[in-house]
Amino acid sequence: MFNSTTGDLTWSVCTAGYEVVEGGEEKNVPDAHLGTNFFRSEMQQAYLLKRGVVRAKGLETKEYVPSSEADGLARQLAAMFQYENPIVQSPTDDQILAFSNRFGLLVPGKKMYVRDIVLTCKYLHLFAEAIDRGDKIKAREVFNDAVVPGMTVRVVGSKSGRLTANWKLEVEPVNLIALAWLQIAAELTTGRAMKKCNAPDCLEWFSDRSNKRFCNNRCKMAFHRQYSKDLQSI
Ligand SMILES: [Zn+2]
Repeated sequence: MFNSTTGDLTWSVCTAGYEVVEGGEEKNVPDAHLGTNFFRSEMQQAYLLKRGVVRAKGLETKEYVPSSEADGLARQLAAMFQYENPIVQSPTDDQILAFSNRFGLLVPGKKMYVRDIVLTCKYLHLFAEAIDRGDKIKAREVFNDAVVPGMTVRVVGSKSGRLTANWKLEVEPVNLIALAWLQIAAELTTGRAMKKCNAPDCLEWFSDRSNKRFCNNRCKMAFHRQYSKDLQSI
């Protein structure tokens, strides 16, 4: 939910978690605005619809501010998609639920089609892949041709609210799909790459500054425990 006073996108996560249910049981599931116009075949769409709906298990929610608390969101979504698995199975339901339990659904509301999460992961993956192989021209082409994220535009003056000569326009995403696209496009515009945490089983990503290798101390310790175990087994 976008807060027009602060200019922040605040997002809700259901505290009871999420579940995947069959699409047939669910009425009034909205089609998510994917913010992309990549080609989607009818057959693929129909297949993906069979994967059902992700639904909040309760009404109670907690809030967070994704722009400051979910740095690696786009990269996490991109990394959930894998070509080795046929598209109908990647990302898996478990991956989708782990993501949703942490960050919430990608669009406002209590439910969304698994299909729309899968497609978002796939498109972000294609874009991330172009960046990672150094093909920034291709990445820019993909973005400009096919990406139209849901945005709002604000006029921003000074932070204090006092009159200033420096007025500017600022774009703000209105959902997590748009936020993810802005995040990953910023890797091109700021030239700041993202890096995955080195710890085994950690899915966290962060911006690649200095020689940071782990998202926190717990991950650092997990890595070194694994490392010394590996050494012993040689
Ligand atoms: Zn980590």
